[in-house]
Formats: sequence, structure tokens, C-alpha cells
Amino acid sequence: MDDGQTEHSPSTDGPTEQRALHRDRPFWAATPHRKAPASREPVDRHYDVIVIGSGISGALVAESLADGVRRVLILDRRDPVEGSTLASTAMIQHEIDVPLHVLARKIGAEKAARAWRRSARAVEDLRLRVERLGINCAMTAKQALYLAGNEYGSRALQTEAQTRHEAGIAADYLNAAALQDRFGLSRTGAIVSDFSASANPAQMTAGLLRAAMARGAELVSPVEVTDVEERGETVILATSEGRLLTAGHVVFCTGYEFLKVMESPVHRIISTWALASRPDMARPGWLDGFLVWEASDPYLYFRTASGGRIIVGGEDEESATAFADPAKGRKKTRRIVEKLADLTGIDIGEPAYAWAAPFGNTTTGLPIIDRAPGAERVHVVMGFGGNGITFSAIAADIVRGRVEGIEDPDADLFRQP
Ligand SMILES: Cc1cc2nc3c(=O)[nH]c(=O)nc-3n(C[C@H](O)[C@H](O)[C@H](O)COP(=O)(O)OP(=O)(O)OC[C@H]3O[C@@H](n4cnc5c(N)ncnc54)[C@H](O)[C@@H]3O)c2cc1C
Repeated sequence: MDDGQTEHSPSTDGPTEQRALHRDRPFWAATPHRKAPASREPVDRHYDVIVIGSGISGALVAESLADGVRRVLILDRRDPVEGSTLASTAMIQHEIDVPLHVLARKIGAEKAARAWRRSARAVEDLRLRVERLGINCAMTAKQALYLAGNEYGSRALQTEAQTRHEAGIAADYLNAAALQDRFGLSRTGAIVSDFSASANPAQMTAGLLRAAMARGAELVSPVEVTDVEERGETVILATSEGRLLTAGHVVFCTGYEFLKVMESPVHRIISTWALASRPDMARPGWLDGFLVWEASDPYLYFRTASGGRIIVGGEDEESATAFADPAKGRKKTRRIVEKLADLTGIDIGEPAYAWAAPFGNTTTGLPIIDRAPGAERVHVVMGFGGNGITFSAIAADIVRGRVEGIEDPDADLFRQP
């Protein structure tokens, strides 16, 4: 069953794409404290900032902007936290999908190093923010283990570790013997790094929304934004209820249902699969402190979650719709279980939860955090990629700066090419 949509039927010609955002209930849907209370209607007609989307991007942006004075409204056409964020495996990584030495070839060494450093800082900032706000979402600092695979082998990983060192980002290269010795894994090499984390993405998002609301933000759903127009210093939004709202700034945090005017060949939507094991899985002692992923296409990635569950994902496919095929889903789930067992010896058997979803990525692995074409006050956050949550945290800083008239020193890295 496609449960990525609410019963509310979205408009077909609105400003944002529309797609189902997951198939089958992700594990996080069964966890407590993952909801934020939404109203049916906005109290006012004018706001300082209207944020569209109540996933992790919208929650982080709203929480950054809500200061008790600024009037912030969050709108969503689904119930809060029912989009891609609910499907996320929430490996909160500083490691960008495109390795630093490869990204350097694409965008230049200085920019690539800045993007990687900003990403590492964002994970740490996010961890501290969750702690400061007292959000109970199993946020845990972790190391990352990046394994050589069919896309990047041991030589490429050695170059990668060296490039990261030169950029001031700590990374330890392990050869095959050291990897076997320390982790019992058989690959030609790996990189161990710090600055990563994991969390329950739904609880984190709901907690951020509640924190924003405690500082005066309003959360309204289900309401769909059906039109947007910037006129002078005001942005006018039309909603599915036939209401007109105005704001000083509007931020589209609509995930993989991005603003249609942002459509570009540099980003695309693919399909991905994920699962959660039963609790209390037998596992090696080191695993709870690590996020593991591999330099392969398609790749496998995994981590543990509270209660001794193992969250595993991967098997990405270059199709925006393959995730919706139930037979394919069963095959992909079996394949993920087999791959995990082959690599680690962990046999999770029949997963307790298995789900599939569309997933966005870009040719550089970097997100798009920009203004809409021709607009000054319409901002767009497209937190694509395997570290979408980290990118959403960066987006929140950049957007808050723009609303306050300050251009972030790293904003150039994330413009629509
Ligand atoms: C299976 C899977 C695994 C992932 N694993 C990881 C991971 O391990 N680590 C990581 O960092 N990232 C991961 N990601 C990516 C990460 O989850 C996403 O980048 C992130 O959830 C996107 O959040 P969002 O708030 O931008 O989008 P969403 O959570 O999708 O929220 C966008 C909201 O906008 C609303 N909306 C859209 N259009 C309109 C409109 N016109 N009017 C009103 N509302 C509208 C939608 O209803 C939706 O609720 C994963 C993603 C998937 C699918």
C-alpha cells in the first residue's frame, strides 16, 4: 500500500512535484513521540516566514527561525512528518556520497574541501542542537566505516584518506589486514572517521517542530500550497482551501517533491529499499558505535538502532518508480539480508519492517539551497543524497542568514548550477 500520501488529494498543477514518498510503513512509524500537533487553519493571513514542508528540512528551518518574535508558519499537505523523513535510515553522516577527491575534480579542490568541512561541522552542530533542545530521539555520536567496494577500491580509498587529511578532515585508512583484525570484515581496505551520528528521524523532526512551536511557530496541515508569486517585498501563496497567505519570505522544504521550476538534469529521483530487523540481534560489539557503508554501486549500508535492531538499506535503482513494485521489494529485501550476512555473518532472517522509497541525488552529491529562479524571497531547500539530514541542517543556517540579510560564506557551494 502506498502510505506516503494523506487522504487529501493533491492538486495536479501546483508549484511542487507530487509523488508517493514511501511504500509500506517504515519502522519509525511504529515508534512513540513522532508526531507534532497541527492546527487545521492558520491564525493569521500574514507571516514573516512561511515554511512549506514539515519533514526534517522544514523542521530545522522553522526551529532556526522561530525566535518568539518572528511570525513563522509551517504548512504541509500531508500530516506532519509523513514524507521522506519517515522513511529515512538516518545515518547522519559528514561523509558526502561523492568522495572528496572525486568532488575536487568536479568542483575544484577548495570548494570540495569547504563542502566536506561544512558537512562535518553540521553533524556536530545538529547533535548539540538536539541535546540543547532536550529532544529525545536516540541521537548518538558515531564513527563511520567506509568500505572499499566495486566503485572505489583500496587505492582510491587511500587517496581519499590522504585528500581528507590535506583538507583538515581526520580519516584513518585501514588496509585489508587491519580491517579484518579490527572489524572481522573482508574487504581490500576501508576508512574510519569521526563526526557522524544516528537518530530516530521522526522523533527528531517532531521534537524540532515542537521546539519551534514553543517559540511561537504555527504548524498547519493538511494544507497544500497551490501557487506562489513574489510581488515586491511580499510573497503571496494560494492554498488548496482557496486561501491567500502573504509572507516576507517563503521557504520550500518540500523534499523530493521539489519546486517544478528547479527541475534540472543535475538532480534525479531513484528508488531505494530499507529494512529494520527484530530487536536484540546478535551482533559484533563494535557495531553499535559505527555507521557502515560501502563504495559500491549498488551499495549496502547499515547501523544499529535502540533496542538492538539493525537498520539496513541500499540496492538503489535508477528508476523513480521501481520502489512501488511489491515483487521487486521482496527481492530487494532478500538481497539486502543476504548481502549483510555475506559481509558480516549477521543473519537477520525475516526483517520486522521493510519499506521502499524514492530518493534524490545530484551529480555532485551536494544539495541545492538557493533562491527560486528570479526570486529574492522564495527560498528552496532540496536536501538530496545519502546525507540529506546533514544537508538540511546546513540549509537551516543558510536560509536563516538570508532571511536576516546575511549571506553564508558557504552559500556558493549549494546554488542551483
Ligand atoms: C529510504 C531512505 C533512506 C535515507 N537514508 C538517509 C540517511 O541514512 N541519512 C540521511 O541523512 N538522509 C537519508 N535519506 C534522505 C533524507 O531522509 C531526506 O533528505 C530528508 O528526509 C528530506 O527531508 P525533507 O524535509 O526535505 O522532505 P520530506 O520529509 O519529504 O518533507 C517534505 C514535505 O513537504 C510537503 N509538501 C510538498 N509539496 C507541498 C505543497 N505544495 N504544499 C504543502 N506541502 C508540501 C510534503 O507533504 C512533505 O511532508 C534517506 C531517504 C530515504 C527515502
